[in-house]
Amino acid sequence: MILLNNFCNNLANKINILIEFYNFNHMNDQQPLNNLLPDIRKKALKRVKKRSPHESAASWSGDDLLYSGPGRSIFIVLPTPGCAWALAGSGGCSMCSYIADSPLEEVSSEELVEIFKGEFQRHIQNQEITGPTAIKIFVSGSFLNEEEIPKEARREIFGIINEYDDVEEVVVESRPEYVSEEVLRDCCQLIPDKIFEVAMGLESANDDIRLQRINKGFTLEDFQKSMDIINKLKSDFKVQGKVYLLVKPVLTSEGEAIEDGVKSAQYAAEIGVGRVAFCPSTIHKGTLMELLWRRGSYQPPWIWSTLEIIRRVRESVNIPVIMDTAGFGTRRGPYNCKKCNSKLKDLIIKTNINQTIPEEVECDCKNKWVADVEFSDVTRSTTNLIKNR
Ligand code: SF4
Ligand SMILES: [Zn+2]
Repeated sequence: MILLNNFCNNLANKINILIEFYNFNHMNDQQPLNNLLPDIRKKALKRVKKRSPHESAASWSGDDLLYSGPGRSIFIVLPTPGCAWALAGSGGCSMCSYIADSPLEEVSSEELVEIFKGEFQRHIQNQEITGPTAIKIFVSGSFLNEEEIPKEARREIFGIINEYDDVEEVVVESRPEYVSEEVLRDCCQLIPDKIFEVAMGLESANDDIRLQRINKGFTLEDFQKSMDIINKLKSDFKVQGKVYLLVKPVLTSEGEAIEDGVKSAQYAAEIGVGRVAFCPSTIHKGTLMELLWRRGSYQPPWIWSTLEIIRRVRESVNIPVIMDTAGFGTRRGPYNCKKCNSKLKDLIIKTNINQTIPEEVECDCKNKWVADVEFSDVTRSTTNLIKNR
Protein backbone atom coordinates (compact mmCIF):
# COMPACT_ATOMS: atom_id res chain seq x y z
CA MET A 1 0.00 0.00 0.00
CA ILE A 2 2.83 2.40 0.99
CA LEU A 3 4.60 1.58 -2.29
CA LEU A 4 1.42 2.28 -4.24
CA ASN A 5 0.95 5.60 -2.43
CA ASN A 6 4.54 6.62 -3.19
CA PHE A 7 4.10 5.65 -6.83
CA CYS A 8 0.90 7.73 -7.10
CA ASN A 9 2.54 10.74 -5.39
CA ASN A 10 5.54 10.56 -7.72
CA LEU A 11 3.29 10.31 -10.75
CA ALA A 12 1.21 13.30 -9.57
CA ASN A 13 4.42 15.31 -9.03
CA LYS A 14 5.67 14.47 -12.51
CA ILE A 15 2.34 15.46 -14.08
CA ASN A 16 2.42 18.75 -12.15
CA ILE A 17 5.95 19.46 -13.35
CA LEU A 18 4.91 18.77 -16.95
CA ILE A 19 1.88 21.04 -16.63
CA GLU A 20 4.00 23.80 -15.08
CA PHE A 21 6.62 23.42 -17.81
CA TYR A 22 3.91 23.72 -20.46
CA ASN A 23 2.40 26.78 -18.76
CA PHE A 24 5.77 28.48 -18.43
CA ASN A 25 6.62 28.11 -22.09
CA HIS A 26 3.10 28.96 -23.18
CA MET A 27 3.20 32.14 -21.08
CA ASN A 28 6.55 33.07 -22.54
CA ASP A 29 4.90 33.20 -25.96
CA GLN A 30 2.08 35.29 -24.60
CA GLN A 31 4.08 37.98 -22.80
CA PRO A 32 3.19 36.89 -19.25
CA LEU A 33 4.49 40.04 -17.58
CA ASN A 34 1.71 42.19 -19.00
CA ASN A 35 -0.82 40.24 -16.99
CA LEU A 36 1.21 39.57 -13.88
CA LEU A 37 3.00 42.76 -12.99
CA PRO A 38 0.08 45.09 -12.16
CA ASP A 39 -1.25 42.43 -9.78
CA ILE A 40 2.12 41.88 -8.10
CA ARG A 41 2.66 45.63 -7.76
CA LYS A 42 -0.81 46.20 -6.30
CA LYS A 43 -0.23 43.53 -3.65
CA ALA A 44 3.24 44.90 -2.83
CA LEU A 45 1.96 48.47 -2.48
CA LYS A 46 -0.65 47.32 0.03
CA ARG A 47 2.17 46.05 2.24
CA VAL A 48 4.24 49.27 2.02
CA LYS A 49 4.71 51.03 5.35
CA LYS A 50 3.83 54.68 4.80
CA ARG A 51 6.73 57.08 5.37
CA SER A 52 6.85 60.87 5.36
CA PRO A 53 8.92 62.68 2.67
CA HIS A 54 11.60 63.45 5.31
CA GLU A 55 11.84 59.77 6.30
CA SER A 56 12.15 58.75 2.64
CA ALA A 57 15.17 61.00 2.03
CA ALA A 58 18.70 59.64 2.37
CA SER A 59 22.27 60.52 1.49
CA TRP A 60 25.78 59.16 1.64
CA SER A 61 29.14 59.82 0.04
CA GLY A 62 32.13 57.83 -1.13
CA ASP A 63 35.05 57.43 -3.52
CA ASP A 64 33.98 57.31 -7.14
CA LEU A 65 35.23 57.52 -10.69
CA LEU A 66 34.50 60.90 -12.25
CA TYR A 67 35.02 61.90 -15.90
CA SER A 68 38.22 63.66 -14.76
CA GLY A 69 39.46 60.62 -12.80
CA PRO A 70 39.12 59.37 -9.20
CA GLY A 71 37.10 61.70 -6.93
CA ARG A 72 34.24 61.76 -4.47
CA SER A 73 30.51 61.50 -5.02
CA ILE A 74 27.71 62.74 -2.79
CA PHE A 75 24.54 60.74 -3.34
CA ILE A 76 21.24 62.32 -2.36
CA VAL A 77 17.91 60.49 -2.51
CA LEU A 78 14.96 62.89 -2.77
CA PRO A 79 11.41 61.82 -1.98
CA THR A 80 8.88 62.11 -4.84
CA PRO A 81 5.36 60.83 -5.46
CA GLY A 82 7.05 57.75 -6.96
CA CYS A 83 8.07 56.48 -10.39
CA ALA A 84 5.26 57.28 -12.85
CA TRP A 85 5.93 54.04 -14.77
CA ALA A 86 5.64 51.87 -11.65
CA LEU A 87 2.43 53.61 -10.61
CA ALA A 88 0.86 53.31 -14.06
CA GLY A 89 -1.30 50.35 -15.06
CA SER A 90 1.82 48.61 -16.37
CA GLY A 91 2.96 47.64 -12.87
CA GLY A 92 6.49 48.88 -13.63
CA CYS A 93 9.69 46.90 -14.12
CA SER A 94 9.95 43.26 -13.11
CA MET A 95 13.00 43.68 -10.85
CA CYS A 96 12.33 47.07 -9.21
CA SER A 97 10.77 47.96 -5.86
CA TYR A 98 11.91 51.58 -5.60
CA ILE A 99 8.29 52.61 -5.44
CA ALA A 100 8.16 51.09 -1.95
CA ASP A 101 10.76 53.68 -0.82
CA SER A 102 8.69 56.64 -2.02
CA PRO A 103 6.23 58.53 0.20
CA LEU A 104 3.55 58.03 -2.52
CA GLU A 105 2.17 61.52 -2.01
CA GLU A 106 2.78 64.88 -3.59
CA VAL A 107 5.87 66.63 -2.23
CA SER A 108 5.92 70.42 -2.63
CA SER A 109 8.83 72.22 -4.26
CA GLU A 110 9.60 74.01 -0.96
CA GLU A 111 9.79 70.71 0.90
CA LEU A 112 11.98 69.13 -1.76
CA VAL A 113 14.44 72.03 -1.69
CA GLU A 114 14.48 72.05 2.11
CA ILE A 115 15.23 68.30 2.18
CA PHE A 116 17.95 68.72 -0.43
CA LYS A 117 19.58 71.55 1.55
CA GLY A 118 19.45 69.51 4.77
CA GLU A 119 21.08 66.42 3.25
CA PHE A 120 23.66 68.44 1.29
CA GLN A 121 24.67 70.55 4.32
CA ARG A 122 25.11 67.43 6.45
CA HIS A 123 27.80 66.22 4.04
CA ILE A 124 29.53 69.53 3.72
CA GLN A 125 29.74 69.84 7.51
CA ASN A 126 31.35 66.38 7.71
CA GLN A 127 33.71 66.95 4.85
CA GLU A 128 34.19 70.16 2.95
CA ILE A 129 33.90 70.02 -0.82
CA THR A 130 37.48 70.12 -2.04
CA GLY A 131 38.75 68.32 -5.09
CA PRO A 132 36.77 66.67 -7.86
CA THR A 133 33.24 66.02 -6.65
CA ALA A 134 30.05 64.74 -8.25
CA ILE A 135 26.54 65.24 -6.90
CA LYS A 136 24.23 62.37 -7.80
CA ILE A 137 20.54 62.97 -7.20
CA PHE A 138 18.35 59.87 -7.06
CA VAL A 139 14.58 60.16 -7.01
CA SER A 140 13.55 56.48 -7.37
CA GLY A 141 12.01 57.52 -10.69
CA SER A 142 12.64 60.33 -13.17
CA PHE A 143 14.24 63.62 -12.09
CA LEU A 144 13.31 65.19 -15.43
CA ASN A 145 9.60 64.38 -15.07
CA GLU A 146 8.12 67.61 -13.77
CA GLU A 147 5.30 65.66 -12.13
CA GLU A 148 7.93 64.04 -9.92
CA ILE A 149 10.33 66.99 -9.48
CA PRO A 150 8.70 70.35 -10.23
CA LYS A 151 10.64 72.79 -12.39
CA GLU A 152 10.99 75.33 -9.54
CA ALA A 153 12.57 72.74 -7.24
CA ARG A 154 14.92 71.59 -9.98
CA ARG A 155 16.02 75.16 -10.63
CA GLU A 156 16.63 75.98 -6.99
CA ILE A 157 18.59 72.79 -6.34
CA PHE A 158 20.82 73.39 -9.37
CA GLY A 159 21.33 77.02 -8.26
CA ILE A 160 22.66 75.79 -4.90
CA ILE A 161 24.98 73.25 -6.51
CA ASN A 162 26.31 75.81 -8.98
CA GLU A 163 27.88 77.79 -6.12
CA TYR A 164 30.45 75.03 -5.53
CA ASP A 165 33.36 75.23 -7.97
CA ASP A 166 34.76 71.81 -7.07
CA VAL A 167 31.51 70.11 -8.04
CA GLU A 168 32.44 68.94 -11.53
CA GLU A 169 29.43 66.78 -12.29
CA VAL A 170 25.72 66.71 -11.58
CA VAL A 171 24.06 63.37 -12.29
CA VAL A 172 20.33 62.72 -12.38
CA GLU A 173 18.27 59.70 -13.39
CA SER A 174 15.41 59.72 -15.86
CA ARG A 175 13.38 57.58 -18.19
CA PRO A 176 14.09 58.60 -21.82
CA GLU A 177 10.59 59.97 -22.49
CA TYR A 178 11.31 62.95 -20.21
CA VAL A 179 14.51 63.91 -22.04
CA SER A 180 13.58 66.91 -24.18
CA GLU A 181 15.73 69.66 -25.63
CA GLU A 182 13.84 72.28 -23.63
CA VAL A 183 14.32 70.55 -20.26
CA LEU A 184 17.97 69.74 -20.94
CA ARG A 185 18.76 73.30 -21.96
CA ASP A 186 17.05 74.56 -18.83
CA CYS A 187 19.19 72.28 -16.64
CA CYS A 188 22.48 72.90 -18.45
CA GLN A 189 22.10 76.69 -18.37
CA LEU A 190 21.87 76.57 -14.57
CA ILE A 191 25.19 74.73 -14.24
CA PRO A 192 27.02 75.90 -17.38
CA ASP A 193 30.54 74.89 -16.30
CA LYS A 194 29.63 71.50 -14.90
CA ILE A 195 29.03 68.18 -16.60
CA PHE A 196 25.32 67.43 -16.56
CA GLU A 197 24.74 63.71 -16.92
CA VAL A 198 21.39 62.02 -17.51
CA ALA A 199 21.47 58.38 -16.43
CA MET A 200 18.85 56.18 -18.10
CA GLY A 201 17.92 52.60 -17.29
CA LEU A 202 18.27 51.11 -20.75
CA GLU A 203 18.83 47.71 -19.03
CA SER A 204 19.40 45.91 -22.36
CA ALA A 205 19.90 46.91 -25.98
CA ASN A 206 17.63 44.01 -26.93
CA ASP A 207 14.01 45.13 -27.36
CA ASP A 208 12.64 41.67 -26.60
CA ILE A 209 14.52 41.42 -23.29
CA ARG A 210 13.73 45.01 -22.26
CA LEU A 211 10.06 44.93 -23.21
CA GLN A 212 8.98 41.36 -22.51
CA ARG A 213 11.14 40.33 -19.58
CA ILE A 214 11.79 43.64 -17.82
CA ASN A 215 8.56 45.41 -18.83
CA LYS A 216 10.50 48.61 -19.29
CA GLY A 217 7.91 50.14 -21.60
CA PHE A 218 10.22 51.90 -24.07
CA THR A 219 11.89 50.74 -27.27
CA LEU A 220 15.46 51.12 -28.43
CA GLU A 221 14.18 53.72 -30.88
CA ASP A 222 12.75 55.76 -27.97
CA PHE A 223 16.09 55.55 -26.20
CA GLN A 224 17.97 56.48 -29.36
CA LYS A 225 15.83 59.63 -29.69
CA SER A 226 16.81 60.78 -26.21
CA MET A 227 20.48 60.15 -27.01
CA ASP A 228 20.10 62.13 -30.24
CA ILE A 229 18.95 65.14 -28.18
CA ILE A 230 21.85 64.73 -25.74
CA ASN A 231 24.36 64.35 -28.57
CA LYS A 232 22.96 67.42 -30.33
CA LEU A 233 23.41 69.58 -27.22
CA LYS A 234 27.02 68.48 -26.69
CA SER A 235 28.21 71.37 -28.90
CA ASP A 236 26.64 73.91 -26.47
CA PHE A 237 26.96 72.22 -23.08
CA LYS A 238 28.90 69.62 -21.15
CA VAL A 239 25.99 67.20 -21.28
CA GLN A 240 26.35 63.41 -21.22
CA GLY A 241 24.18 60.33 -21.31
CA LYS A 242 24.81 57.36 -19.07
CA VAL A 243 23.13 53.97 -19.15
CA TYR A 244 22.35 51.38 -16.52
CA LEU A 245 22.38 47.81 -17.79
CA LEU A 246 20.71 45.05 -15.83
CA VAL A 247 22.76 41.87 -15.57
CA LYS A 248 20.45 38.84 -15.78
CA PRO A 249 16.81 39.91 -16.01
CA VAL A 250 14.17 37.28 -15.19
CA LEU A 251 13.66 34.45 -17.72
CA THR A 252 17.26 34.88 -18.87
CA SER A 253 19.91 32.18 -18.65
CA GLU A 254 23.41 32.75 -17.29
CA GLY A 255 24.96 32.51 -20.76
CA GLU A 256 22.41 34.81 -22.39
CA ALA A 257 22.88 37.35 -19.58
CA ILE A 258 26.62 37.56 -20.31
CA GLU A 259 26.15 37.93 -24.05
CA ASP A 260 23.40 40.53 -23.62
CA GLY A 261 25.47 42.56 -21.15
CA VAL A 262 28.46 42.69 -23.48
CA LYS A 263 26.43 43.54 -26.60
CA SER A 264 24.39 46.20 -24.77
CA ALA A 265 27.49 48.02 -23.49
CA GLN A 266 29.04 47.93 -26.97
CA TYR A 267 25.86 49.40 -28.43
CA ALA A 268 25.82 52.17 -25.78
CA ALA A 269 29.42 53.14 -26.54
CA GLU A 270 28.68 53.22 -30.28
CA ILE A 271 25.80 55.69 -29.98
CA GLY A 272 27.71 58.18 -27.83
CA VAL A 273 26.82 57.22 -24.25
CA GLY A 274 29.49 58.65 -21.93
CA ARG A 275 29.49 55.95 -19.23
CA VAL A 276 27.97 52.55 -18.55
CA ALA A 277 27.01 51.17 -15.15
CA PHE A 278 26.10 47.50 -14.89
CA CYS A 279 23.58 46.63 -12.20
CA PRO A 280 23.66 42.90 -11.48
CA SER A 281 20.27 41.73 -10.21
CA THR A 282 19.52 41.63 -6.53
CA ILE A 283 16.14 40.41 -5.38
CA HIS A 284 13.89 43.33 -4.41
CA LYS A 285 10.85 42.64 -2.27
CA GLY A 286 7.42 42.55 -3.91
CA THR A 287 8.68 42.02 -7.47
CA LEU A 288 8.18 39.34 -10.10
CA MET A 289 11.87 38.61 -9.70
CA GLU A 290 11.29 37.80 -6.03
CA LEU A 291 8.33 35.60 -6.85
CA LEU A 292 10.39 33.55 -9.30
CA TRP A 293 13.33 33.39 -6.91
CA ARG A 294 11.16 32.10 -4.07
CA ARG A 295 9.87 29.33 -6.36
CA GLY A 296 13.43 28.33 -7.31
CA SER A 297 13.07 29.61 -10.88
CA TYR A 298 15.45 32.53 -10.74
CA GLN A 299 18.92 33.11 -9.32
CA PRO A 300 20.88 36.38 -9.49
CA PRO A 301 24.00 36.06 -11.65
CA TRP A 302 27.20 34.42 -10.55
CA ILE A 303 29.90 36.94 -9.62
CA TRP A 304 31.99 35.08 -12.24
CA SER A 305 29.53 36.27 -14.90
CA THR A 306 29.90 39.91 -13.83
CA LEU A 307 33.68 39.52 -14.00
CA GLU A 308 33.45 37.99 -17.47
CA ILE A 309 31.22 40.87 -18.67
CA ILE A 310 33.49 43.57 -17.29
CA ARG A 311 36.54 41.91 -18.82
CA ARG A 312 35.03 41.57 -22.30
CA VAL A 313 33.48 45.05 -22.25
CA ARG A 314 36.61 46.85 -21.07
CA GLU A 315 38.56 45.05 -23.82
CA SER A 316 36.16 46.28 -26.49
CA VAL A 317 34.90 49.77 -25.57
CA ASN A 318 36.74 52.94 -24.64
CA ILE A 319 34.30 54.62 -22.23
CA PRO A 320 34.28 54.12 -18.43
CA VAL A 321 32.37 50.99 -17.41
CA ILE A 322 31.38 50.39 -13.81
CA MET A 323 30.10 47.14 -12.29
CA ASP A 324 27.93 47.88 -9.27
CA THR A 325 28.85 45.46 -6.47
CA ALA A 326 26.05 46.28 -4.00
CA GLY A 327 24.52 43.04 -2.77
CA PHE A 328 27.48 40.87 -3.86
CA GLY A 329 27.84 37.80 -1.65
CA THR A 330 24.42 38.23 0.02
CA ARG A 331 21.51 35.78 -0.09
CA ARG A 332 19.57 38.04 -2.46
CA GLY A 333 22.49 39.16 -4.62
CA PRO A 334 25.14 37.85 -7.02
CA TYR A 335 26.93 34.93 -5.41
CA ASN A 336 29.87 32.57 -6.03
CA CYS A 337 30.98 30.77 -2.87
CA LYS A 338 32.01 31.78 0.64
CA LYS A 339 35.68 31.40 -0.23
CA CYS A 340 35.79 33.84 -3.14
CA ASN A 341 32.81 36.25 -2.84
CA SER A 342 34.69 39.02 -1.03
CA LYS A 343 37.90 38.55 -2.99
CA LEU A 344 36.12 39.05 -6.31
CA LYS A 345 34.02 41.91 -5.00
CA ASP A 346 37.17 43.76 -3.86
CA LEU A 347 38.85 43.09 -7.19
CA ILE A 348 35.88 44.54 -9.11
CA ILE A 349 35.70 47.63 -6.86
CA LYS A 350 39.40 48.26 -7.42
CA THR A 351 39.11 48.00 -11.19
CA ASN A 352 36.01 50.21 -11.20
CA ILE A 353 38.20 53.06 -10.04
CA ASN A 354 41.22 52.43 -12.25
CA GLN A 355 39.25 50.91 -15.19
CA THR A 356 41.74 48.09 -15.70
CA ILE A 357 40.84 44.61 -16.88
CA PRO A 358 40.54 42.34 -13.83
CA GLU A 359 43.19 39.61 -13.53
CA GLU A 360 42.31 35.90 -13.78
CA VAL A 361 41.16 34.40 -10.47
CA GLU A 362 40.68 30.73 -9.64
CA CYS A 363 38.40 29.01 -7.13
CA ASP A 364 36.82 25.56 -6.77
CA CYS A 365 33.39 26.98 -7.60
CA LYS A 366 34.44 28.19 -11.03
CA ASN A 367 33.72 24.81 -12.69
CA LYS A 368 30.10 24.97 -11.54
CA TRP A 369 29.75 28.41 -13.12
CA VAL A 370 31.34 27.17 -16.37
CA ALA A 371 28.81 24.30 -16.47
CA ASP A 372 25.96 26.68 -15.69
CA VAL A 373 26.92 28.91 -18.61
CA GLU A 374 27.44 25.99 -20.96
CA PHE A 375 24.15 24.21 -20.18
CA SER A 376 22.13 27.28 -19.25
CA ASP A 377 19.78 26.94 -22.19
CA VAL A 378 18.64 23.47 -21.19
CA THR A 379 18.02 24.26 -17.52
CA ARG A 380 14.64 25.93 -18.05
CA SER A 381 12.31 27.05 -15.29
CA THR A 382 9.17 25.06 -14.46
CA THR A 383 7.39 27.59 -12.27
CA ASN A 384 3.70 28.03 -12.84
CA LEU A 385 3.27 31.76 -12.46
CA ILE A 386 -0.50 31.63 -12.80
CA LYS A 387 -0.65 29.58 -9.58
CA ASN A 388 1.22 32.29 -7.69
CA ARG A 389 -1.03 35.20 -8.45
S1 SF4 B 1 13.47 50.57 -12.83
FE1 SF4 B 1 13.11 52.80 -13.03
S2 SF4 B 1 11.44 52.93 -14.54
FE2 SF4 B 1 11.43 50.83 -13.80
S3 SF4 B 1 9.94 50.84 -12.12
FE3 SF4 B 1 12.00 51.16 -11.21
S4 SF4 B 1 12.23 53.37 -11.04
FE4 SF4 B 1 10.52 52.99 -12.48
ZN1 LIG C 1 34.47 30.36 -5.09
